[in-house]
Amino acid sequence: MSVDPAVELPFFYGSISRSDAEQHLKLAGMADGLFLLRQCLRSLGGYVLSVVWNLEFHHYTIEKQLNGTFCIPGGKPHCGPAELCEFYNKDPDGLVCTLRKPCLRPPEMQIKTGVFDKMRENMLREYVKQTWNLEGEEIENAIISQAPQLEKLIATTAHEKMPWYHGQINRLEGERRLYCGAQPDGKFLVRDKNEQGSFALSLVYGKTVYHYQVIQDKSGKLSVPEGTKFDTIWQLVEYLKMKPDGLVTSLGEACVNSAAAEKTPSLPRTRGEVRGNGYTPPPRAFPGPSVASASVPVDRDVLPMDCAGFNPYHNPNDIKRFNIEREKLLMDEVELGSGNFGCVKKGVLKMESGHVDVAVKVLKSENEKGVREEMMREAEIMHQLDNPFIVRMLGLCNAENLMLVMEMAAAGPLNKFLTSNKDTVTMENIVNLMHQVSMGMKYLEEKNFVHRDLAARNVLLVTKQFAKISDFGLSKALGADDNYYKARTAGKWPLKWYAPECINYHKFSSKSDVWSFGVTMWEAFSYGGKPYKKMKGPEVMRFIENNNRMDCPAACPERMYTVMKECWTFSHEERPDFKKVEESMRSYHYSISAKAKTDETAAAANPTN
Ligand code: AMP
Repeated sequence: MSVDPAVELPFFYGSISRSDAEQHLKLAGMADGLFLLRQCLRSLGGYVLSVVWNLEFHHYTIEKQLNGTFCIPGGKPHCGPAELCEFYNKDPDGLVCTLRKPCLRPPEMQIKTGVFDKMRENMLREYVKQTWNLEGEEIENAIISQAPQLEKLIATTAHEKMPWYHGQINRLEGERRLYCGAQPDGKFLVRDKNEQGSFALSLVYGKTVYHYQVIQDKSGKLSVPEGTKFDTIWQLVEYLKMKPDGLVTSLGEACVNSAAAEKTPSLPRTRGEVRGNGYTPPPRAFPGPSVASASVPVDRDVLPMDCAGFNPYHNPNDIKRFNIEREKLLMDEVELGSGNFGCVKKGVLKMESGHVDVAVKVLKSENEKGVREEMMREAEIMHQLDNPFIVRMLGLCNAENLMLVMEMAAAGPLNKFLTSNKDTVTMENIVNLMHQVSMGMKYLEEKNFVHRDLAARNVLLVTKQFAKISDFGLSKALGADDNYYKARTAGKWPLKWYAPECINYHKFSSKSDVWSFGVTMWEAFSYGGKPYKKMKGPEVMRFIENNNRMDCPAACPERMYTVMKECWTFSHEERPDFKKVEESMRSYHYSISAKAKTDETAAAANPTN
């Protein structure tokens, strides 16, 4: 998992040494202008361009500027490593020659992750764990779906959650705390030096406390005197754990801020109390989320992890129960939607941790043949699924009617939401949501379930930034050895969303869900447009068989249209699976978020732009 904008480049090798770079260039023939890109081991976010000229190697450092641009010192700034290489491909602008031929990474070779990548991943993991009290898979889900947003948060606030951060205490108090208990070499703390946001580092060595000022240069980078510079105090601390970099010793054990230790558990507690417990989020331009944390700062969007539905099972007593007692369920008259089984109503479920807003699918008539079994089958499937990007079933309640109780996705179906919020939903927002849908579908693929009705109408939104797959009425669990489900007869099928093998051979697999994902993407990127316009099902089949596909929606990025077309590969064998689709969605999501960040910082640095 990396947000490095260079991962897209086939001539990027990651964190390899200078001599390894030279070895690759040698093996590739030493032609003039042959080049590769690698990660700079010294400066965070920077690169080195290694170029061959006249059978010699030349290495140029590319620095990442504070405003997010990249440049070779003395050269022009560029918004990303790709743009920079493209520029030097046309104009040497001070380099020994133009970049003529990329030295491509062999296909089996992975990009080498560097110490900073690992550090960043650990930071993200720790931050997510501390902030949202998530565990295991949920941490991974949170990180994969929101890495760019999390990185932004980490850069600014992560140190506040760290045990070694003691806030505003003076030098004497710092010493007092360090001298409390054992005093091994390297025991350290970080404190605020003054109100301007600068820091001091206090460190034990030979039973003596040493104090260092953390210096901030003009561009805001932090370092100890004469040391390596970093964007955040977090990164500096992690680095100093590995290298003394001018200090008497490298950092070791953290001197734990007991006030912070007391404060940390209060985060999840606040969530639990607030979750679905009458907390009303501030008014927004769209239906409000059931926000789990009252501490979402006003200046940032609500992330999926802030919402109750990201992981509703924090309280061990709240584990999903198949049978819900009637008195635990308060029904509202508000109807959220309807289907052939009956209607979906708003409700409130009384749980140990508080009251939760729920959506309740109410079976209309017990007499109608098969509907009850259908609903039971849907419940059976939903009961086996547990993923933040899939609507969870909380239980079944068998009372005046059979009722299926689910998490509430208050902002409703994606197609309707996009149709009515065209002006406020950005393309980046849609990419983020569709990436989440691909994560939910990847989970289904891994668990060997086929959805069979993936469409924008069945993607429900908790908030503008949080999507969940719903409606498992047609879904099937495949046997361990099966990779498809064969329907005996055709039913009321959503033909426009179905892959050719579904229609021609009644064969359903995760690969046919991939086809539907492509159509869902098309709906999303056309802001709730109707696929295949006025064509009827059989016409659509002929259209597809004649090798036609829907056009790229007006505002859809080219890369997203490419993914759609891959999803519409006629042969299911050649069609990508969700593992691959999710990777493509993720890499595009990260790349545009990194670019948006660059644009933002560049604009801040140059307000006249
Ligand atoms: P379904 O038959 O499952 O597609 O549900 C019909 C309609 O009910 C959907 O289109 C939604 O508008 C609404 N609905 C279903 N489930 C939920 C939910 N979990 N949260 C909010 N609305 C829902």
